Amino acid sequence: MEIIRIPAGIYAANCYLVYDEDTKEGIVIDPGGDADDIINKIEELGLDIKYIVLTHGHGDHIAGVEDLKKYTNAKVAIHKDDAPMVRNGEKNLSSRMAMGTVEIEPDILLDEDDVIEFGKLSGKVIHTPGHTPGGISLKIEDSLFTGDTLFAGSIGRTDFEGSSYDSIINSIKTKLIVFPDETRVYPGHGPSTSIKMEKRNNPFLR
Ligand SMILES: [Zn+2]
Ligand SMILES: [Zn+2]
Repeated sequence: MEIIRIPAGIYAANCYLVYDEDTKEGIVIDPGGDADDIINKIEELGLDIKYIVLTHGHGDHIAGVEDLKKYTNAKVAIHKDDAPMVRNGEKNLSSRMAMGTVEIEPDILLDEDDVIEFGKLSGKVIHTPGHTPGGISLKIEDSLFTGDTLFAGSIGRTDFEGSSYDSIINSIKTKLIVFPDETRVYPGHGPSTSIKMEKRNNPFLR
């Protein structure tokens, strides 16, 4: 498995290209803008993108979806509970962000334990609500893509409509921190970390 991080869009949300080096099949997680940069990388690596997976519906994670979908023909997947958000520029906050209104019709509505397959890899959907109702983390081999749920040394904001502090803490404690210490964590903003580091150092998990 290869993982490439491209901070994209005006809020520098982490966009990840994850692919199988043998078949060159891959997915794009959270293209938050700068679709040209992401497309250039896909072209350079000769990747066949099967899915665009959204960890949640916020504007800063979805602004590059439309252009990327046009180029790759990939199916757009999001948890069913964030579908109303991704379809509505007010709900996904893009109408109040500098990039302007973004509204997307997803192709696939995800649920807990769904599996996204590409090449010889598979990503398991873990519903981790709290930052948004339909936030997911995606587990691929020993890596965990956590969107705006878990960051290095921090957690996602819960001051939005539909957010819940109790839910995000519960999601992290019962569904993420339970993975082995060596599990790599790739958040929606900022540097990567590990389950071990977050267990030891994340002040929200004490
Ligand atoms: Zn967010
Ligand atoms: Zn974000």
